[in-house]
Amino acid sequence: MARYTGPKCRKCRRYGVSLCGTSKCAILRRQNPPGPRPTRRRKISDRGQQLIEKQKVRYAYGLMERQFRRYYDRAIRRQGVAGNNLMQMLEERLDNVVYRLGFGATRAQARQIVTHGLISVDGKKLSIPSARVLPGQEIAFTGRGKKSGFYQILKEEIKSRDVPGWLEVDRDAVTGRMAGNPGPGDWEPHFAPNAVIEYYSR
Ligand code: ZN
Repeated sequence: MARYTGPKCRKCRRYGVSLCGTSKCAILRRQNPPGPRPTRRRKISDRGQQLIEKQKVRYAYGLMERQFRRYYDRAIRRQGVAGNNLMQMLEERLDNVVYRLGFGATRAQARQIVTHGLISVDGKKLSIPSARVLPGQEIAFTGRGKKSGFYQILKEEIKSRDVPGWLEVDRDAVTGRMAGNPGPGDWEPHFAPNAVIEYYSR
């Protein structure tokens, strides 16, 4: 599956917020956008701002445009607030759940853990990052995953990682469970899901 593979923090610096999820994000050091300094300041139109909000969410979850657009198509067909539907579907992706459980330091690392076959859902290996996790399902490491050097390091690192309320984690067993559905307040406050919906719906 294609994904953005350019310089890691270029997008973070472009949008002025950390989208990479690492503690070493470049915006903590350099807050100006990448590239040459603009010669004159331009006012950003509503349309331009919606595009920015769309790109922020898309890059944060590491999706290509076509795949991201499909989430929008499904979000507007569901009942409820379309922006919240969109974010909920993104949060319920297996790679994101693995990230939120603290099994990966970033979403990019979580995706790699999944694609490399280190993760199981309800006891069966699942290596598809976009797979939807359902409430009640248990996320764990596969036998192969437990033998990886990554897992040994994670057993220490996970002790200091927080988990949102819709997930439960057993830090000793390195397993997790989806206890409920993610809702508003469970994703980063700097996202503007309604602007993403407006961007596509005009
Ligand atoms: Zn960054």
